[in-house]
Amino acid sequence: MCARLKEPFDYNNKEEFQVKLGDWIGDVFYDILPEHGYEVREEQIYTAFQLADAICNKKVHLAEAGLGTGKTIAYLLSAIAYARFCGKPVVIACATTALQEQLTGCDGDIIKLSSLLGLEIDARMAKDPHQYICDVRVNENNEDFNTMSNEINQWITKTNMGERSEMPTIPDRIWKLIGWNESMACDTCLSRGYCKLVKAREHYRPTRDLIIVDHDIFFHDLWTHDDRIANGKLPILPSYSAVIFDEGHKILLPAAMQAGQQINKEEIDNMILSLEEIQGARDSLSLATIALQQASGDFFAYLESSVIADECSKRQSLRINDTLLKAAKTFQKALDYLLLEMQIEQELYFESLSISQIQAYEGQIERAIRALDRFCRNKSTDTITWVDQRDGSFWVVPRNLNEMLEQNLFQKGLPVVFTSATLSNEGDFNYFIRTLGLKKPSKSTVGSPFDLEKQVVVYLAQSSNRIEDRFTQGIEKLVSLLNQNGGRALVLTNSLQEVRKIRRRLKGYQLSFEVLCEDEGDQGYLVRKFKEVETSVLIGTNFWEGIDVPGEALTLIVVWQLPFPSLDPFIEVQRKEASEQGLDPISTVDYPEMGLKLKQGCGRLIRTQDDKGVIVILDSVIGAPWEKVVMGALPSGASIRTIEDLKSELL
Ligand code: SF4
Repeated sequence: MCARLKEPFDYNNKEEFQVKLGDWIGDVFYDILPEHGYEVREEQIYTAFQLADAICNKKVHLAEAGLGTGKTIAYLLSAIAYARFCGKPVVIACATTALQEQLTGCDGDIIKLSSLLGLEIDARMAKDPHQYICDVRVNENNEDFNTMSNEINQWITKTNMGERSEMPTIPDRIWKLIGWNESMACDTCLSRGYCKLVKAREHYRPTRDLIIVDHDIFFHDLWTHDDRIANGKLPILPSYSAVIFDEGHKILLPAAMQAGQQINKEEIDNMILSLEEIQGARDSLSLATIALQQASGDFFAYLESSVIADECSKRQSLRINDTLLKAAKTFQKALDYLLLEMQIEQELYFESLSISQIQAYEGQIERAIRALDRFCRNKSTDTITWVDQRDGSFWVVPRNLNEMLEQNLFQKGLPVVFTSATLSNEGDFNYFIRTLGLKKPSKSTVGSPFDLEKQVVVYLAQSSNRIEDRFTQGIEKLVSLLNQNGGRALVLTNSLQEVRKIRRRLKGYQLSFEVLCEDEGDQGYLVRKFKEVETSVLIGTNFWEGIDVPGEALTLIVVWQLPFPSLDPFIEVQRKEASEQGLDPISTVDYPEMGLKLKQGCGRLIRTQDDKGVIVILDSVIGAPWEKVVMGALPSGASIRTIEDLKSELL
């Protein structure tokens, strides 16, 4: 058992803890940080006190804080003090690994705070298991990668935890051979308890102050916690005293995906191929494999014909009918039959397949059976289903996520904080509250402390019924804007199809800057290049959030289309539920969803107090039914003008 760390302040009981925490936060913001030259802001101090109150009183709290507020320091103070008060760490759940690293890195907020306060802080990262090597896979694929690189071999021999970031040059094709993946049968693995993945878990489990996780790991732990304990296994995360979701507006998808299952056709096909190659397999196993091949082929063919095509959505909704459900049932039966056959006289196949491979296939079949069982039950009315546009995977997730969150998280009585710059539409949190089924959470909201009146000008278009050749007119406006600004722009669209169309049309123009289009390259690479080549222009549909380009490389945002939601199955469910509650789905789902995404997009422009820039929305706004929503999503205090002003001022 690790020793508890020294308290940042003295107290005798719970009541005194809360009072002293407030005093300490005051000392930190009014004395300690300014003494070290740290610029504190009223918005940050207000947020810190709100979070202290929420955490001490075990509330579910929504803390909206605009860009530049410094909300991380604001929540870290209460989190550290509360963890020490409870003797259990606080979980900080970030949206991405990059954000986890930003918090815990050498120049991250935690180290900075530790040095400013002269306080030792024990914070450890729990990373996605995909980031670690699996000893079984290393042994099985030894021959495949052995000859490739001495450097990699040496690293594998020496590494303690086998974390990919220790060897960043390792190529994807090798990582695919040695990295952990869902098909590994860890529960029955003989190395369980000794392998590198387990060492990684042992590293973060004894954390005393903070465990920094991503949303996926948090929900993986949440949904498996009770089962793991019931089966005598350690939960993924140790017991914790509070949860703080950073980028809290993004939790729904990881929560759903971790609660659901996917079936990937390519993986099923690969398994069938391996089983067909088994030497001397019994006839019944061969028959079961053939039956599965037929059933899987039929199911995926029906699935493909049931997709509701939508270029704008990564998740393709499905038209569910009796034929598809029947094909799913037949597929499920074929998997059941194969699983049974594989479990009979398994030792007959050991010469062709390793034990771990057989166990991995069994795990894969069991997960597919669970997905199909859930899909077929009640004609799939209790599920949200989709086909992933990128890899064709079929996903089945439970529809009652709100109930699951209530039972597994909110009812536990722990403090749960959601922080983000986009939780509300102009201070109205109803959409977020309804989406997660929250019961009377406390709320706080502060805008950005930046001087947005001086830093941002927004140009809006009048609502118009004239749509003839809107695309050509848009391109002409776009080219003028880009030329005028010397590039340095981010152009946001609603679909990759639109990006492609714009790219093709721009080829007809002589532009003096580089144009980077999302349909032509890896997103990470494009963003890096956009930052490096200061005059470049980035056009995409997935850059509404998550990119941070301060300075001269981004001084113009062109909103090519307002980000109205697509046919995404999650949005469809929200629309249906709004209708069932007698609400108008357009104004209570589509508008707020669009407003939140637009707010994120506009937030890309001003990243520091020195940034300045222009936002131009080419879609109709003034006089349109969504005008108020758009106005609420624009940077607060920014100067608003019309596109007509823009013509005289800029073009
Ligand atoms: S327990 Fe899992 S991760 Fe560890 S070696 Fe075995 S299969 Fe790989």
